[in-house]
Amino acid sequence: MTALLALAVIFAVAVVISLTVAVAAWRRRGEAVGFGAITVLASGAGWWSAMALAGLFVRDPALALWFVALAYPGVFTLVAGWWATARALTDRSWRLRRRTAAILAVEPVLCTVALATNPWHHLFLDHLRTTGVDGVLAAAFGPLFWLHAAYSYLLVTLSTVMIIQTYARDTRRYRGYLLAVLASVPSLAINVATRLSGGRLVDLTAIGFAIGAPMMYRVVRAGSGPASAPVTYRDLIRTMTDLVIVVDERNRVIDHNPAAAELVAHLDAGVCDGLPAAGEAELTVAGIDLSVRVSALAESRNGTAARLLMARDITAQNRQRAALEEANSRLRAQLVTIEKLRNDLAEQAVRDHLTGLHNRRHLMTRLGEMLDAGRTPCFALIDIDHFKQVNDRYGHSIGDVVLQRVAGVLAAAARDGDVVARYGGEEFAIVFGDAGITEAAARVEALRRQVRATPVRCGDVTVPVTFSAGLATADDAAGVTGLIDAADMALYAAKTSGRDRVSVSAPAPV
Ligand code: GH3
Ligand code: MG
Ligand code: MG
Repeated sequence: MTALLALAVIFAVAVVISLTVAVAAWRRRGEAVGFGAITVLASGAGWWSAMALAGLFVRDPALALWFVALAYPGVFTLVAGWWATARALTDRSWRLRRRTAAILAVEPVLCTVALATNPWHHLFLDHLRTTGVDGVLAAAFGPLFWLHAAYSYLLVTLSTVMIIQTYARDTRRYRGYLLAVLASVPSLAINVATRLSGGRLVDLTAIGFAIGAPMMYRVVRAGSGPASAPVTYRDLIRTMTDLVIVVDERNRVIDHNPAAAELVAHLDAGVCDGLPAAGEAELTVAGIDLSVRVSALAESRNGTAARLLMARDITAQNRQRAALEEANSRLRAQLVTIEKLRNDLAEQAVRDHLTGLHNRRHLMTRLGEMLDAGRTPCFALIDIDHFKQVNDRYGHSIGDVVLQRVAGVLAAAARDGDVVARYGGEEFAIVFGDAGITEAAARVEALRRQVRATPVRCGDVTVPVTFSAGLATADDAAGVTGLIDAADMALYAAKTSGRDRVSVSAPAPV
């Protein structure tokens, strides 16, 4: 009596815990398929336990047979549920398809038929035996039952192996899986023992549920096993937007993912020949630019057997880069133009418009720089003689031509380091970079002779031109103004002493 009571209590506990697991899993069914599968599994265990519990109190053989048979929907559900749980735990994207459900239903339907027709053939349940436990009746089984048992054990074993494989791949992530497997062990072991007793033992599988269900509860509640189930590589590759292609050693496509389908259709023979055995490369197929990463998949003794091509469409990227490069070179060209304009402008700012010589501003700057640097250049002021009369007699534009011609003569004679400038009106200035006063005087004198010897011809007029010049050196003058004043005084002397001559500034008596 006490044994019966103990069993009844344990079976009742099994019913309650199994149903608790079922409810907990059902609540989380939206999170992952695995929760749905565990709901089915736990419901099966609960039903099975409930029928076993009821069977404990039946002494009428006909009724006892009914309870033995009624446990089977629970058995079928449990086995199929365990298999579905394993599938869902090993592949998050797994869904129970109609076809699979139909195949899974075949064995339960056959068993149900066998059970229903059992009174005539006794091939499933042979007979009932009275056990030592308070006269509780237990079934002794026939060959059809053993077929069913073999099928169920096989499915359960396969499922368990699937879960263990996933667990083994990454124990950290799938820690809860070991618990799931452990949860199934007690019921499986007890079930095998009961069945092998040949009817001497009551069906004690529910004891296993009472032990295993709390562990399953942990899987559902705390470990969140089903929620962290992996997605199979096949699904990963199938949904990737990157193109994945596998080619054999002769570059024939062996396999590819859906993203690569269009490209593969355009992959003519030889397109992949230029690709390296491993590494990165770029490829253009049917107007699409691809960045390809090639890696060897398997090495055979005579070289690489297959290569994996991972390609990304970089057409848009390339187009953008080309546009950017073009914009860049346009910008560079504009910069060159701007720089040239800037230089032109800077040059214009220091040039005289009419003669093209440097202007007075530039002359003053350079002269200042030279003196600041401690140099003592010679400075000549040149003034065209009676220029007013040229304008008056021949017109202003002829006057301009004369200015240009004289400027040309002065510029042509300039040496490196000299500054030749239009000082203003019909006056010019020369800063001699290196010449001493004697040499400078000789050079101005030579210019004077040259200008005098070459009258300016313009159309049918010939304009005789002469100039007067005053020369000074920074040696005997203080600062820019002093130097210019000295040259100006020498020029005045040249003018007053008859023009068409060069006058050198006499150093101020000390
Ligand atoms: P002097 O021998 O004493 O130097 O006599 P000058 O006539 O040359 O001197 P003056 O200073 O009296 O006259 C200079 C003239 O130069 C007056 C002005 O009209 C003329 N002139 C100044 N700038 C220009 C110019 O750009 N073009 C022309 N055609 N004439 C100019
Ligand atoms: Mg003058
Ligand atoms: Mg003059």
